[in-house]
Amino acid sequence: MAAEDSRGTVATQAIQRDKGMTIIAGPCSVESLDQMMEVAATLKELGIRVMRGGAYKPRTSPFSFQGLEEEGLKILREAADAYGLLVVTEVTDSAHAEKIASYVDMLQIGTRNMANFSLLKKIGEVTAESQKPIIFKRGMAATIEEWLQASNYITMNGNENVILCERGIRTFETATRFTLDISAVPVVKKLSLLPIIVDVSHPTGSADLVPAVSRAAVAVGADGLMVEVHPDPRAALCDGPQSLDLEGLRKLVVELEPVAKAVGTSLT
Ligand code: PEP
Ligand code: MN
Repeated sequence: MAAEDSRGTVATQAIQRDKGMTIIAGPCSVESLDQMMEVAATLKELGIRVMRGGAYKPRTSPFSFQGLEEEGLKILREAADAYGLLVVTEVTDSAHAEKIASYVDMLQIGTRNMANFSLLKKIGEVTAESQKPIIFKRGMAATIEEWLQASNYITMNGNENVILCERGIRTFETATRFTLDISAVPVVKKLSLLPIIVDVSHPTGSADLVPAVSRAAVAVGADGLMVEVHPDPRAALCDGPQSLDLEGLRKLVVELEPVAKAVGTSLT
């Protein structure tokens, strides 16, 4: 229990409003222990403290890979513990909330569930004691106002530790998977006291666009950046085309450091 408590505190301190830019990296989906160990070793080497990986995947097509479920949670925890990392995964169903919260340090609500208010209430309740941070993605067709309103379903039900995540919205543009609303960051900073991070992978849909969008996220003052990486993106079971390989992640960190410095922040 004591270890659990201190982990919750460390997780809360990992992403804070206006206290540096925290990188969260990892594959779209957990596929194997080997895959996650390789990713975790690279994060450790780069000083990245938070790893991501989906175990329950909300895929648009029911025929796509749906995730390893509890086996994926075990793998995430094992790989994170082997390298002293924090770990975040998505919750897609109230029925899994308690189980998922028992394995990971932060929980994620995806874009497809931003307005699933019963899930948001349940997440608030399940994490009321631990206060584990909730990464709360913007609905792909939600206004900033709707997104902020929805976040109250989590805070009012016991957990104020919400981290907003801009991940791109639907527009008429088809050159990218979604349209990253970069101005959401300063708008949210004006309207809310919550930290806000930017997912740089899902809006672009393409790994070659990720570095430029990441520079913008740092420059605009985001409190963190979420990026999908995979040891072998071409073999990824989910979102390979937008995933950086591990060398790509190394390059990205080197490239972002001067941008962070230029805007008076640091990568944490
Ligand atoms: C994810 O982070 O793996 C994911 C499914 O993201 P989103 O909910 O933004 O599509
Ligand atoms: Mn993904």
